[in-house]
Amino acid sequence: MPERSFDVVILGGGNAGMGVTVATREAGLSVAMIEPDLLGGTCPNRGCMPKKVLVAAAHALDEIDRAPAHHIAVGKPTLDWAALIDREKAMIAGIPGSLEQLMQRRGVEVIRGHGRFTAPHTIAVNDDVLEAKHVVIATGSTPRRLPFPGAELMITSNEVLSARALPPRVAFVGGGVIAMEFGHVYARAGSQVTILEMAPRLLPGMDADAVMQLHRETERIGVAVRTGVEIERIEHAGEGLRVVYRHDGDEHAIEADRVVNGAGRVPNVNGLDLAAGQVASERGSVFGDAHLRSTSNPAVYVCGDAVAASPQLSPIATYEGRIVGRNIVDGPKHVPDYTSIPACVFTVPALASVGLTQAIAEERGIDLRTEVNDMQNWLSGRTYAETAAWAKVLIDRQTDRIVGAHILGHAAEELIHIFALAMKNGISATDIKDLIYGFPTFSADIKSLW
Ligand SMILES: Cc1cc2nc3c(=O)[nH]c(=O)nc-3n(C[C@H](O)[C@H](O)[C@H](O)COP(=O)(O)OP(=O)(O)OC[C@H]3O[C@@H](n4cnc5c(N)ncnc54)[C@H](O)[C@@H]3O)c2cc1C
Repeated sequence: MPERSFDVVILGGGNAGMGVTVATREAGLSVAMIEPDLLGGTCPNRGCMPKKVLVAAAHALDEIDRAPAHHIAVGKPTLDWAALIDREKAMIAGIPGSLEQLMQRRGVEVIRGHGRFTAPHTIAVNDDVLEAKHVVIATGSTPRRLPFPGAELMITSNEVLSARALPPRVAFVGGGVIAMEFGHVYARAGSQVTILEMAPRLLPGMDADAVMQLHRETERIGVAVRTGVEIERIEHAGEGLRVVYRHDGDEHAIEADRVVNGAGRVPNVNGLDLAAGQVASERGSVFGDAHLRSTSNPAVYVCGDAVAASPQLSPIATYEGRIVGRNIVDGPKHVPDYTSIPACVFTVPALASVGLTQAIAEERGIDLRTEVNDMQNWLSGRTYAETAAWAKVLIDRQTDRIVGAHILGHAAEELIHIFALAMKNGISATDIKDLIYGFPTFSADIKSLW
């Protein structure tokens, strides 16, 4: 097999892989990027971006729903789901091509295929063998495989984003971000939605009170939520499927036209032959240090969703990729800081958060001032006839710094950045209140949150 040499070989052309190319190409290193599918990976092709097109439609339906509050009479809206899916696909169609051009301009050689280790510094792709001073694992994530019978009958977010027929009944197994977001879209579009979550509550990683508010709003729009369930099996039932589960010791069943795996995603590293690369891992999780470097093979870095320990968000994938690029160029000096990175759940309305949950802040013994406000009856909330508008702000009494913020509705997905900016730059809670905000805006309400 012919052998070629590169300074850096990146496995995966998503946000993380792209991030690696910035510093490495600026430093003049030779870089190959191996990618079997569309450049850009999940976020622009099968994730954030196409999903947001559907979420935007759900927002429009929500606005129409609230029109009577403004004394606007509207008929029942009809949604052409197939046309919406076509719109979604058209919106993203040009992205892989433009990224291809970007990589070309940046001097990155893109090689089509699946890469895998054959030795600590060697990657095989198709009939090529690439020798690399550094290898970066940026292969993203894949839906968690679930162990019960019939799990193979579930579809994933990929099919949700592609199927041109709106299913009348949808069940989600798992109540994570993907289930919540698509559950809201389907419910707004008129499907009957059930979310079956194994944990005692939805979105287990997020602030419990904020999630409770979202849970209520989710039920208000007609989604059936069952928590603390154990899925026994999925089986065919006529044209559709039946999900059999246990709850409080009793057996229950629901029928659905489509069952979606909403049980989260795990690093996609199984096909890489990590052992051949001497990359230590356990149950699909690469052992990495604070610099995102393999603990067993110093030539190997890992970033993005392929990292088991950091949140699966596209800005984090890019950020980690850029850090890995800088560590390759400068030596392992740079460490990611996740403290002020906002996370949004794009339900309608959205839940956005940054920093610590109340439970973690208390666990850490922070002298906490916890301010909780329901803003639905505030003038701004009433003006827009908001159905949910709630915020919790956590302030460290000793330092007057924000340590966490959790907002539902009230343009949460935008407001959260004010808190993120303050946290990143050490702007005190008092200074945030001192700012003069445009009025009347949702942002101006921040002054009244504590
Ligand atoms: C439905 C959905 C909605 C989402 N919405 C949001 C959102 O709103 N906001 C947000 O921040 N995040 C969102 N995310 C998460 C976000 O998409 C990911 O965090 C991000 O795309 C991860 O980037 P990555 O580069 O690590 O992985 P990916 O973008 O998945 O890229 C990995 C690439 O590696 C390639 N690959 C796999 N195996 C190999 C191999 N052996 N050799 C070479 N290449 C290989 C894959 O083809 C893929 O292109 C969403 C995810 C999903 C699934």
